[in-house]
This record gives sequence, structure tokens and C-alpha cells, in this order.
Amino acid sequence: MTIKELMMLLDSKVPFNTAESWDNVGLLIGDETEKVRGILTALDCTEAVVDEAIELNYNTIISHHPLIFKGVQSIENKGYGKIIRKLIQHNINLIAMHTNLDVNPVGVNYMLVNTLKLKHIRQINQQQHRYFKVQTYIPKVDVKAFKDRLSQAGLAQEGNYEYCFFETEGLGQFKPVGDANPHIGDIDKIECVEEVKVEFMIDYGQQDLTEQLIKAYHPYETPVYDFIEIVDKSDYGLGIMGELTNPMSIQQFSEYAKNQLQIPSVRFVGPYDQQIKSIAIIGGSGIGFEYKAKCQGADIFVTGDIKHHDALDAAIQGVNLLDINHYSEYIMKQGLKALLDSWLEDLNIDVKVKASQINTDPFHYV
Ligand SMILES: [Zn+2]
Repeated sequence: MTIKELMMLLDSKVPFNTAESWDNVGLLIGDETEKVRGILTALDCTEAVVDEAIELNYNTIISHHPLIFKGVQSIENKGYGKIIRKLIQHNINLIAMHTNLDVNPVGVNYMLVNTLKLKHIRQINQQQHRYFKVQTYIPKVDVKAFKDRLSQAGLAQEGNYEYCFFETEGLGQFKPVGDANPHIGDIDKIECVEEVKVEFMIDYGQQDLTEQLIKAYHPYETPVYDFIEIVDKSDYGLGIMGELTNPMSIQQFSEYAKNQLQIPSVRFVGPYDQQIKSIAIIGGSGIGFEYKAKCQGADIFVTGDIKHHDALDAAIQGVNLLDINHYSEYIMKQGLKALLDSWLEDLNIDVKVKASQINTDPFHYV
């Protein structure tokens, strides 16, 4: 398997275009033509993680947090530059799967919810999915060839299905006038043609291609077609809501989360003994969504990186919070390894995958 093939597999499972616009995901350092010689999953690509890959003789690291994020000014042999230089010197490919892994139904939030053994889980803050329904009218005899052309160009596909069209028969009418050069009919004479209304869906980015193909392959001089924009909720969303099997007090839940996630400390906002059942989680740094989560029925909002004033605002407004530290996302190392193992097994591809053993939490706890 080449890096390019690995990227295609990752994109099919955890699409890179579902990442937030400010993010930096994909192949950050590397060569698409190289063969994958082992994959190390990591939360952060630190120098110790690169050394770990070198030690294992693996040439691919998939990290959650992008090493190259803010603009890189120089690549000297110190700081982040040292890590980049080491990756390149040892021909190690670095792939980032950040917010695209966060919003995925089997991604980081799911891994957290799973570790906490929550039930009845559902995604929250779903991204909008925009696409077009296209309808055009075409003589019955030309329909098959027209649909074939569109399908060959990758249009009218939905999930695992190609050639998704709907047809309705009708009677098209027109009168060519002036300098018209009609495919069917004569000048100044009303013509009736057995036509078919062909409907199909396209991705948002396929509009220009579709218009070009209709103009190129529709037999009429002036084809009639419409693009109807449709917006619905996608399968990707920042956060997951789930329920505890049995209600617990906030204090009990905080201790439970600390133990399940195996992290050295947590802190919470809210009354010690308030009973809670419904939990909303955004891994990493999810402050900003706590009020929305409460409106959606969450008894407590779980995330990391909570600052004093966000906590105070929440306390004053009766919103319960649990800070599980940003580093709790480390569970994605094992979670992504398990996903990769199953995806590669399905394809009968034998590539070794390991979760990094390096603790990249910058904090020490006392
Ligand atoms: Zn993070």
C-alpha cells in the first residue's frame, strides 16, 4: 500500500473535507508514492514520537493534532523545526487527522463516549450537508445515452450506489422560430415530443461539471434544466450526547470519568450532589457549545481546556461542566489503531499499526 492509497482509504472513512476550515489536515510531510512500512498513531507528533517510529522502523505517523498548524517561519534544528527535520531525514510520512476525526461518527468523541460506556448515543452540532437535485427534460430516445455519459463522469451517485436516476414521462412542446436550428421539428411549427424528466442528485461541487455535461450531451440546442439546492444535516457533528445507564451525582460521575479515562485529575462546575444522566461530550477544547448542549437536554457538558471565566459564567447560569483535560483525547491513539486494523483487514492489506506509547501531555500533576 502506498501513502496515496492510505490517504484514499482514510478519506473514504474519515473525509478530510469534513475538517473545520481553520484546520490543517492531510499529508503534512511525506511522499505519496512511498510504500507504507508501518503506521504509528499518536495524539501529538513530538520528537519522542518520531524516535518511537524510527525505533519501530515504521515510516508513517498519523497524529490527531497537526504538527504544522500556525505558519512555520523557519525549519532550524530546534523546536518544531527539529521535529520536521527529523521526519524528513528519516523519510517518515506525517498525516494529520484532526477535526475530521472529531466530527466523525466513529471518531474521537465516539471513543470518549465509548470509554464512558454511555448508552443511546447521538451526534450533536451536525454539519450542514449541501447538495443539488438536478432535473432536465430530454427526448425519450436519448435518455439512456445521456444518463450513461453523466454516470461515467461520476454524477448521480449516492453512497455505495451509482446510476441513481428518477424518470417521469411527459409531453414536451415547443415551436422553433427565427434562426433556430432544432434537433427535432421545423421552423414556425409547434412540435410535440415524448420527453422524459430525468432527476438526480449531485454534490455541491459538481454543479459546473453537470452544467457543462448537460450542454455537451443534451441533444437540444437550448436544453432546459434546473438546479435545486438542498440543505440537510450530515452524518458529521462536533460532539456526542449519551446517557448513563443509572443516574449519578456530578461528583460520582466526575470520579467515574477520571477512572474510566485513566487521567490524573478532573474538575467540575455544578452542585456536588445533583443527579445527572444525560451527558454531552466534545473532546479537546469544546467550550462555546455548553449552553447549546444544555438546551439539547444535557445535564453536564464534558470537555477540556476550560478557563476560569467560562467556568464562572457556567456556574452563574446553572450549566454543569466537567473538565477532563485536553489530553484525555489520548484515547484516540488506541481507537484509531483499532479502526485502521479493521479497515486494512477488510481490504486484506497487511500493514502493521501501533498506538504510540509516548505520553505527550505537557502538564505534570502533583
Ligand atoms: Zn485536541
